[in-house]
Amino acid sequence: MEHTILIEGGEAFAVSAEEDTLLRGALRAGIGFPHECSVGGCGACRFELIEGELEELWPEAPGLSERDRRRGKRLACQCRPRGRCTVRMRCDDEYRPAVPPERRPAVLESVRPLTADMAEFTFRTATPAAFLSGQYALLYLPGTPGARAYSMSNLANAEGRWQFIVRRVPGGRGSNALFDRLAVGDAITLDGPYGNAFLREEGAREIVCIAGGSGLAPMLSIARAATDRPEGPPVHFFDGVRTPADLCAAPLLGGPAASGRLRYTPVVSGGETGKTWSGARGFVHEAVERDLPGPLDRYEFYFAGPPPMIEALQTLLMQRHRIPYQQLHFDRFL
Ligand SMILES: Cc1cc2nc3c(=O)[nH]c(=O)nc-3n(C[C@H](O)[C@H](O)[C@H](O)COP(=O)(O)OP(=O)(O)OC[C@H]3O[C@@H](n4cnc5c(N)ncnc54)[C@H](O)[C@@H]3O)c2cc1C
Repeated sequence: MEHTILIEGGEAFAVSAEEDTLLRGALRAGIGFPHECSVGGCGACRFELIEGELEELWPEAPGLSERDRRRGKRLACQCRPRGRCTVRMRCDDEYRPAVPPERRPAVLESVRPLTADMAEFTFRTATPAAFLSGQYALLYLPGTPGARAYSMSNLANAEGRWQFIVRRVPGGRGSNALFDRLAVGDAITLDGPYGNAFLREEGAREIVCIAGGSGLAPMLSIARAATDRPEGPPVHFFDGVRTPADLCAAPLLGGPAASGRLRYTPVVSGGETGKTWSGARGFVHEAVERDLPGPLDRYEFYFAGPPPMIEALQTLLMQRHRIPYQQLHFDRFL
């Protein structure tokens, strides 16, 4: 069964009554519904309900402030329509999905430990793994309410292989379910792809990838895709970690790094490193400003990681260096 959703003064679309949130139904229908994280954290998919009935899956989701709630705002990623609805929000072509998201079963094929708290998880689906480098999928994990967003670290492929690099978050339900409750051969539901921080079509600008902690996966996919192109611009890869023991990207970038088009800069932020470290130190955004030959508006920037890193980079690039917003593509790992 499906429910019809009418956007006030605009398009209408159908949402599956059993499975879809308002946001996912809209994106599946090719609507440019603004969104970022899809998991209740960022608030980008706020809308107003004009008419109809909705079920709120996570009423306390942090993406809405108290003021938003008082003004009747809701999150499209956390609302499931209960009938025909009319909603108020502004669509934007920028959010029209480049690859329509699909929900499908995915079987865990292998797990490869990378550091003490990060591992690469490979899933297989019966249909091709169609996505753009930098996008993410939603994984429905055992014993975990809602879905968790994880970015693909590999390249799109016809074999249906989806790779994720996940950090085990102490006390986190989804990440610990991946490490402890899933065995090779188990199936979960994978929904995707989502996200707008994907590698843009080839341009003249040099590419900068900045990973903070577990923000590594989408940056790997972007760097791999960019260096796979026969005649692309150079790629500058900044890898921000707390200690040298957290570094794992270099072997994963092995091929392209060796090709000479990729410059890899690991940056260690922790004071107490535990072993000798002669490379760059400090926060990764500081290394970006210090090491990249200016002016910085000659680069296309891609970055992913924890919200404080994203904010520091936005301040650095947009306010200090006046880089146009269109040259910045990022995901906050909420
Ligand atoms: C776009 C994006 C891409 C990401 N990519 C990666 C990646 O490649 N690798 C990686 O390690 N991490 C990634 N993350 C972070 C990841 O999605 C999880 O937030 C992280 O693994 C912690 O999840 P947890 O379940 O272990 O922790 P928890 O603390 O249990 O859960 C935190 C997350 O779950 C959501 N959540 C909590 N409770 C509920 C509920 N009741 N209903 C619905 N949702 C709920 C929150 O919005 C929050 O995102 C990404 C996040 C985003 C937004």
